Amino acid sequence: MKTIFDHTKFGSLPVSSRIIRNGLWESQNDSAKGLTQEIYDRYEKMAESDVGVIVTELISMYDHDRFSDYTHYINTPSFIRDFKEVTEVAHEHHVPILAQIGFVNCNVNGKQMMEVNDLTIEDIRTIQADYVVAAKKIMFAGFDGVELCVGNNFYLSRVMNPFENTRDDDYGGSTYNRVRMIVEIIQLIKKTTDLHVHCKVNLYQDEDDSLEICRILADNGADSLQITKFLSPQYFRKGQSNQNMLVDFADRVARSVDIPVVLGGGQSGQDQINELLNSTEIDFISMQRPFVKNPGFLSEWVDDPHAKSECKTCNNCYWKKQSVCLIE
Ligand code: SF4
Repeated sequence: MKTIFDHTKFGSLPVSSRIIRNGLWESQNDSAKGLTQEIYDRYEKMAESDVGVIVTELISMYDHDRFSDYTHYINTPSFIRDFKEVTEVAHEHHVPILAQIGFVNCNVNGKQMMEVNDLTIEDIRTIQADYVVAAKKIMFAGFDGVELCVGNNFYLSRVMNPFENTRDDDYGGSTYNRVRMIVEIIQLIKKTTDLHVHCKVNLYQDEDDSLEICRILADNGADSLQITKFLSPQYFRKGQSNQNMLVDFADRVARSVDIPVVLGGGQSGQDQINELLNSTEIDFISMQRPFVKNPGFLSEWVDDPHAKSECKTCNNCYWKKQSVCLIE
């Protein structure tokens, strides 16, 4: 029987629970002075609380993608110095920590807002080289791994989307060709760093194709997968909730690959999570907003096996791009 607080492994990383904290937006950064004490304190509370793995807030690959007023950028000169302190906080409590990176708009090689079908091979190589540089910075900052945002509406999810990628070269057409650019990024990162590579990947409209994407990523170097959704209502079927679709698909992926599969979002209580862990092959649950409400809530869950998150899932922190609860 699986339980939330099992001591197990996430790939090769030892963890003390099956809860993955996934970061949302950052709103406590000081763009002039770098990370603030509030941020370090928040990470310390999470690390003290038996969280399995901490994933940072979203770090932008490119300066033109300003996800919030306080976005962290991989190219900020103090990135390594600032985040070294964050990773040290996590490691003091033996918690693995991953850096979440992604981009939405493609403006490489002096071009603006590139569509997937218009990328040249030179553009693809530029993006891949930028990921290698980013991964090296992440490794030097002391992270255990990197979360590649290749799901939701991030640009690399569009590269894998059969409705958007209709290229007729090696980077389009078959499922493998659509995933090839991401596979090459993963392999380059694995070749040049020792980072765990975690991929956040979509359930697209075609479930079988989405499963094949997950298999290809797993067979070609990804160390773990998180299942998420394309943020567009037309991708979901009538009569079935988004969450049920994600649970069913994540279970199907977990039965098809040999790496850990994480289900993202929608779970708020221990009873619900433990039941899900034991009725499916899903081994890890990702949570965001409960950590915004109370970064140390898992410490309370250890003492009360039926506890629930106090987050009301009002989504105000998400829409207003805050890393603190707005109900307070
Ligand atoms: S603002 Fe709403 S969704 Fe965000 S943490 Fe607070 S209660 Fe939860």
